[in-house]
Amino acid sequence: MRLSRYFLPVLKETPAEAQIVSHRFMLRAGMIKQASAGIYSWLPLGFKVLRKIENIVHEEQLRAGHLPMLMPTLQSADLWRESGRYDDYGQEMLRMKDRHDRDMLFTPTAEELITDIFRGHVSSYRDLPLTMYQIQWKFRDEIRPRFGVMRGREFLMKDGYNFDLTKEDALHAYNRHLVSYLRTYERMGLQAIPMRADSGPIGGDDTHEFLVLAETGESEVFYDSEITELKFGDRDIDYTSKEQCHAVLEEFTSRYARTDETHDEALFNQVPEARRRVARGIEVGQIFYFGTKYSEAMGATVQGPDGKAVPVHMGSHGIGVSRLVGAIIEASHDERGIIWPEGVTPFHVGIVNLKTGDAEADAACETLYAALTAKGLEPLYDDTDERAGGKFATMDLIGLPWRITVGPRGLKNGVVELTCRRTGESEEMSPEAAIDRVAQIF
Ligand code: ATP
Ligand code: MG
Ligand code: MG
Ligand code: MG
Repeated sequence: MRLSRYFLPVLKETPAEAQIVSHRFMLRAGMIKQASAGIYSWLPLGFKVLRKIENIVHEEQLRAGHLPMLMPTLQSADLWRESGRYDDYGQEMLRMKDRHDRDMLFTPTAEELITDIFRGHVSSYRDLPLTMYQIQWKFRDEIRPRFGVMRGREFLMKDGYNFDLTKEDALHAYNRHLVSYLRTYERMGLQAIPMRADSGPIGGDDTHEFLVLAETGESEVFYDSEITELKFGDRDIDYTSKEQCHAVLEEFTSRYARTDETHDEALFNQVPEARRRVARGIEVGQIFYFGTKYSEAMGATVQGPDGKAVPVHMGSHGIGVSRLVGAIIEASHDERGIIWPEGVTPFHVGIVNLKTGDAEADAACETLYAALTAKGLEPLYDDTDERAGGKFATMDLIGLPWRITVGPRGLKNGVVELTCRRTGESEEMSPEAAIDRVAQIF
C-alpha cells in the first residue's frame, strides 16, 4: 500500500476523551472513529488489525476441531423467555420491537439460539461431540462504555458452544478450549493468564477467565508469579486426547491465579510471600462449563446408548476479538506509539522515502516495494512529500515492527537502513539484504 493512496487520518493532538493509552493511540493512528457512545467505525488500519486477530482465532478454532458458523445479531425474545434470561439479563440487553409488535433483541451472547439449533436437529448421542463457534458482533448496553473498543457497547466476540453426552466429555471440550486459547493469545504476542473466575449471568461451576496483565485493566487479580514463566510455545497437541489437554489445564491452572470475584485470602497466603502478586488485568476471554443448565430449560436432549433421553452437557467459550486490539496495544507500546507484535501487525514493514521526488530514492523505493510484495509481504510505503521527521513520527505511531529508510545519501554507498520498532536499533545494509531479513522474520 502506498500511503498517498491510503486512508490514514492520523491526529496530531491527543483526543481529550481518551483516558487510556490504547484508546489514545487507536484514535491518533486513525484506526477507529466513534459513531456514538461505545459504538465505533473501524477505519482501514484498525480493520486490518481486527481481521488479523479474527483470522488467528479462526485458525486456532479449526485446529481444535471446532466448526465455524454464523448466527444473526437480531433474535426473537421468545427463546430467551424459555431459558428465563429475558428477564434476568436486565438493562445490558438492547430490546426492540419489529413492525408486528414482536419483541426482538440484539444478541449479547448466543446460548439460547445455538441450543435451539441443536435441539431441532440432533437427537442421538452418535452425533456428539459437537462444538460450533462464530465470530459475530454482540451488543451490550454497558452502563459505562469507556476505554474505546475495550468496553464498547457493540463489540466483536468469538463465541463457541460445545454439546457432549457426559460431563467428562464436556470437561474435555473445556480443556480443549483452554489449550486453543493459550495458543491463540500467544500467537498475538500476548501473555493471557487463565484465572479462576465467577460465572456471572452465563451460570455454571467451572470457569476460567484469561487475563492480560496491564495497569489499566478493570479487574483486580491475585496470582503466584511463577505462572508468568509458563509458555505454551509451539508444542504439538492432539486435541482429541483427553490426557494431553488435561495435562495442559493442570500445568496452567494449578498455581494460584484468581480475579477479585473468587479471591481467597487464606489460600493466597499459602503462596510464598515473594511470589505473591496483586495487579490489574484485562479480561480477553472466558471459558465455561455449565452442564445441563440450558439443555434442561430448553429440552435439548439426545438418546443415549441405552435408549433413554438425556439432556446434553454444554459449555460456552468467548474471546473478546475487538477488545483484543486495545489489549495488545496496552501490552505493547512506548511513548511514541503502538508496537505491533509480528503476528497481528497491519503491514509487515514500512518504507520511508527520505526524499520523495529524488529520482534515485524514488526508484529504490519502488524496487523495494515490488520485491517485498513479490515475497508475499505487505509493505506500507510512505511516498508522500512530508518531511522526514513527520514520516518517522507516523511510522512510530502506527507501530509497524520494521521500517526500511531510503535516502540519497545511503544509496550513494548502496545501503538502506533497517530499523526495529521495538528496540529502536538500526542497521545499514543493501536493499536485497533488508528484503531477505524482513522476509525471514515473517
Ligand atoms: P466484562 O467482565 O469485561 O464485562 P464479561 O465477563 O461480561 O466481560 P463475557 O460474557 O465473558 O464478558 O464475554 C466474552 C468476552 O467478550 C470477554 O472476555 C471480553 O473479552 C469480551 N467483552 C465482553 N464485554 C465486552 C465489551 N463491552 N466490549 C468489548 N469486549 C467485551
Ligand atoms: Mg460484562
Ligand atoms: Mg467478566
Ligand atoms: Mg467474562
